[in-house]
Amino acid sequence: MDVIIIGAGVAGLTCGCLLAQKGLNVLIVEKNEKIGGCCTSFEKEGFSFDLSVQSLGECQEGGRIWNLLKQLDLLDQIHFISLEPAREYHFPNQKVVQSSRIETHIEYLSSLFPGERRGIEQVYKILRKIFNEFSQMPSSLNWFDLSSLNSQIPFLLRYKDQTFGQLLNEYIANPFVKTILSVRSSYALLPPEEISVVGMAGIEMSYFDHGVSCVKGRVERFPLLLGEAFEKRKGKILLGHEVEKILMEEKRAIGIRLKDKAEVTGKLIISNVDAQKTFNSLLGKDRIPNSFRSKLNGMRPSLSYFILYLGIDGDLEELPVSNNEVFFDNQLSKEYQILYENQIPEKAPFYLLAPSRVDPSHAPPGKSTLCLSMKAPYHFSKGWGSKIIDELSESLVSRASVLIPDLKKRILVRTEATPKTIERWTGNQLGAAYGWAQIPSQSGIHRLQRTTPIPNLFLTGHWTSPGGGIAAVVASGELTAEAIWNRFERGEF
Ligand SMILES: Cc1cc2nc3c(=O)[nH]c(=O)nc-3n(C[C@H](O)[C@H](O)[C@H](O)COP(=O)(O)OP(=O)(O)OC[C@H]3O[C@@H](n4cnc5c(N)ncnc54)[C@H](O)[C@@H]3O)c2cc1C
Repeated sequence: MDVIIIGAGVAGLTCGCLLAQKGLNVLIVEKNEKIGGCCTSFEKEGFSFDLSVQSLGECQEGGRIWNLLKQLDLLDQIHFISLEPAREYHFPNQKVVQSSRIETHIEYLSSLFPGERRGIEQVYKILRKIFNEFSQMPSSLNWFDLSSLNSQIPFLLRYKDQTFGQLLNEYIANPFVKTILSVRSSYALLPPEEISVVGMAGIEMSYFDHGVSCVKGRVERFPLLLGEAFEKRKGKILLGHEVEKILMEEKRAIGIRLKDKAEVTGKLIISNVDAQKTFNSLLGKDRIPNSFRSKLNGMRPSLSYFILYLGIDGDLEELPVSNNEVFFDNQLSKEYQILYENQIPEKAPFYLLAPSRVDPSHAPPGKSTLCLSMKAPYHFSKGWGSKIIDELSESLVSRASVLIPDLKKRILVRTEATPKTIERWTGNQLGAAYGWAQIPSQSGIHRLQRTTPIPNLFLTGHWTSPGGGIAAVVASGELTAEAIWNRFERGEF
């Protein structure tokens, strides 16, 4: 094999497709019987649910996902449903609607809070500059030449160590406007006081620059399509095989060993797997320099989710939009103080998504799907036993009755996912939803690189740069493929 990719998440599949398209001999090894990683779907009693990914950025014309599908000649095989408005945020005394277009959203917020218009515009201008610099950062950048760095990535350098909360303090006075501008930090599972400006730029821009979309049918259509494109380009996928070891000879990786002890050799290995597992378990701690090992082991994964999937009787026309988030407090950081003590607040904010409102094919005729979720710590102080799961589900249903008053009586089908479910399915430690938390020390130029101390071992996916979310891991897959192809062309492998 020229290349072996461990893990068939969206990043591994993207990278595999692009390298196979160049004519390389690529094998993807996946522990599950199905490809897609987090981006997968399942059925229960006639209802169809997406495990985690519910909506995507960058799928409309010119977006990164759209461009990838165009490049792979797949655009006519997938349909994206545009969400407009993207979502509604329900605060104790006010409802805020978010357009899936940034310019419309800025105008809407500025008309609600005219005194903050300049600040709002300035914050988004900075986020856009940072996002553009980061997405277009040349791999040839010389990190030791400060003046060239200052001219090529001035915003990225200026804000590299700042939190989004600090940026808001510079430009916004009204505390509620700060809350609204930070509301999406919740999707990185961080409060504004902790999320980096760079991380927030990624979330806002990759999601809203080319509209917010859902995949028509099931979300897994996207990775399955990438899998077909990969095999069409003579790539091979080995399903249901867990990689147990990356084999080394002196200082280079030479292949992999599977759990059934079969070995496959390759010139180059790419890991789409949790980075700590990649180095600590698959490679072996003694194979990496001490400095790298202590950096790695000091890193902090993102939080996880508790998700309740419901099949509901009747339609859900009482919901004006499919994607909602409900807050019981205007201060976003309060929830995290409790989560960090491995508890879940009694009145935790939650997401209420109604996928069948957007695509009725998720439910049988006259019925609907609903997905209620909230942030959750892996080491929940009450454990993840079935009694606790029932209690959390009941509490979510009772809180969701704010928007759907007779919800409890209409439930036909119910199933849940906890951080343990996510960990089991993806192999991501602690059920981390987005790889490393996007705090300043783990974002942007500080994020774990795609190259590693082993010259022919690379990373791709949400544990490396730029970060979590489908659009970001597509970017990661593309950038890893580009770096590797450049080396093949230079004759290094
Ligand atoms: C609950 C939840 C909700 C989310 N919602 C959204 C959303 O709405 N929009 C959005 O854009 N993003 C969302 N995300 C984030 C997004 O799903 C992830 O960032 C992204 O899918 C990660 O892709 P990846 O390719 O990096 O890795 P993963 O999807 O984690 O894939 C890794 C793959 O490696 C395999 N693997 C692991 N260990 C081994 C081994 N030893 N041998 C072989 N195979 C192995 C796993 O089985 C898996 O298939 C959500 C995530 C979660 C958990």
